[in-house]
Amino acid sequence: MPVTSQYTISAPPVPYLLVKNSDLRFPVHRIYCVGRNYSDHAIEMGHDPNRETPFFFQKNADNLVTNNGDFPYPPRSKKVHHEIELVVAIGSGGTDIARVDALNHIWGYAVGLDMTRRDLQSEMKQAGKPWEIGKAFEHSAPCSEVIPASEIGHPNKGLIQLKVNGEVRQLGDLNQLIWKIPEIIMVLSGLFELKPGDLIMTGTPAGVGAVNRGDLLECFIEGVGEMTTRVI
Ligand code: MN
Repeated sequence: MPVTSQYTISAPPVPYLLVKNSDLRFPVHRIYCVGRNYSDHAIEMGHDPNRETPFFFQKNADNLVTNNGDFPYPPRSKKVHHEIELVVAIGSGGTDIARVDALNHIWGYAVGLDMTRRDLQSEMKQAGKPWEIGKAFEHSAPCSEVIPASEIGHPNKGLIQLKVNGEVRQLGDLNQLIWKIPEIIMVLSGLFELKPGDLIMTGTPAGVGAVNRGDLLECFIEGVGEMTTRVI
């Protein structure tokens, strides 16, 4: 049988994030998300704010919106929520990464939005079905440029804030994370093989709410960066 390097159809492009103050691109492999990782958000969603084992879901790498691009209001939903999150960009992979070694696997950080079709997620949750349709839809992951950890270190405190049309809606501090970044990497790398290019959205503080077409979302994380997106 002849061996050929030709694909049958054109291969999809590699999704990527821009890198701050650089022409380089950060190629994205997978997007992992952590659920309920700020106690005040767990409470607002009606859950126990104590440390349950962290749990994860995924978005697709090609769900990213970069360069302050627009967020098209998704179909089949009447309740789409914003969730601002600190994003970890993995530079070197591994399995069963030790907590004390975890930060060495991080290339950089970014500001992201875990956009959520809350009505569909709630229906699925109640039925004990997967969250996929609520979380992993087109354009569901707007994300800022990546800033290298070599420039900013590893943030473990600092303001995390989202404004809608100039009004503060979500406000928290990175020091409120229930599961800290090294612990997230430790647990996640026990379940999956982390690869260079993986992103981890680390959870959202309280104040999630619905967006409408025309809204301007302004996201800011102290020491990490900022991002805007317009709901269209
Ligand atoms: Mn989230």
